[in-house]
Amino acid sequence: MAKGGYCVYCGKPIVKKSREHIIQNALGGLYESGDICCDECNHCVISKKIDAPFTKTFNPIISQIENFVKTNHKNSQPPCTGKAIYENHVYDVVIKNGKVVACPEISKKLKCDISKLNLEILAYDFPIENNSFKNGISKIAFNFALEKGIDFSLLSKGVEIQKNGEKVENILFKFPVMPFVALNPMDEYIELKTKMELYHNLILFSQRNMLWCYVDLFNTFQYYVLLSDEWDARESVLETYLQLLQKMDRTMPELYIRKPKHILTYAMFFQVEPCMDLQEFEKRVEVAIQKESLKKNMSDVISAKLGYDYFNIDKIKGLEKEDARSYLKNEMGFHLNSLLLYFDENDRLKDSTFRQVTCMGEDNHIVSYPLLIDKLARDGAIDICRYTYRKYGRINAFLAGIDKIRLKEDIKN
Ligand SMILES: [Zn+2]
Repeated sequence: MAKGGYCVYCGKPIVKKSREHIIQNALGGLYESGDICCDECNHCVISKKIDAPFTKTFNPIISQIENFVKTNHKNSQPPCTGKAIYENHVYDVVIKNGKVVACPEISKKLKCDISKLNLEILAYDFPIENNSFKNGISKIAFNFALEKGIDFSLLSKGVEIQKNGEKVENILFKFPVMPFVALNPMDEYIELKTKMELYHNLILFSQRNMLWCYVDLFNTFQYYVLLSDEWDARESVLETYLQLLQKMDRTMPELYIRKPKHILTYAMFFQVEPCMDLQEFEKRVEVAIQKESLKKNMSDVISAKLGYDYFNIDKIKGLEKEDARSYLKNEMGFHLNSLLLYFDENDRLKDSTFRQVTCMGEDNHIVSYPLLIDKLARDGAIDICRYTYRKYGRINAFLAGIDKIRLKEDIKN
């Protein structure tokens, strides 16, 4: 918690409340707090020195999302870089408003106007290996912790406030930040094999003497931030936040009500009280649709991803009996254990384990997720880039509309 009514950065009383977004406004963050910092620190330091350089990284994504929660001003989109294909060669290019506007290599070779050529965009670059990226991710974790009541004194070690006299000139976040990598079949399934869905997700949790925040932006950029290693192990904290990023279709559907039981079905679907007065019932549904929030329960969203294809039994089809048996024992054991670790008997995601722990080894014992990733990364035993690139591949396909094409074909068939 910020010291009741005082700015965490300059320490002055907050006279004019400043709406500070937990996840940056430009990224579609809808979650605000008025108690973290003063108007001056927010506008002169946080917005300019942390948020602006950080959110620039995501321009390629934001400009391409259909029905993004914040209005896109297509004309004002700054250019970004990426890869495009031309006559079977891949080139580094500059992209603006979804079109290739420059390609130094082709220009040099062909000496012609790039816009006349038919270059197809393959992927956008996400420049994340820099300090402003780390600062931006850390700020989200820091804000979320403060908003959820964590005392500033516990977090202050990770915040360097550079002052010139009384005035705050710059803020640097020094919390250790580490990329997430899926280390069990359930996380691989959720992250890489289910339909891409755009959301931001935060999980604040304590583990022994450590306080972590898992930050997932656009369901693509996934990190752990270590907020403190002096957490009181007798206390425990668990807070989650999940928010969708595309505007909802709020048009009222035509209700097919011919029998009383149809009312019950719709009532359950829209989560409204059923009533036999049709006009009144339609009104309730309409209100529910208008009110439906982009902020969701994390368990609802992740649970909906679990499908029958999680267990891939096709794999054992061509195997010898002994091989099939050992595959079932080893692989399926791992599959089953990670299912049981994250989902309850009703196939609902358990908030208390998701992204906090994973299982490993022959006995499938449970270990801290961030600490295991840290150890494996230090030992050179995991390839973090491989997972990250697969996540980029998914969002690039999503932005290129490959998901949409597939969906249209599904409907046709
Ligand atoms: Zn201030």
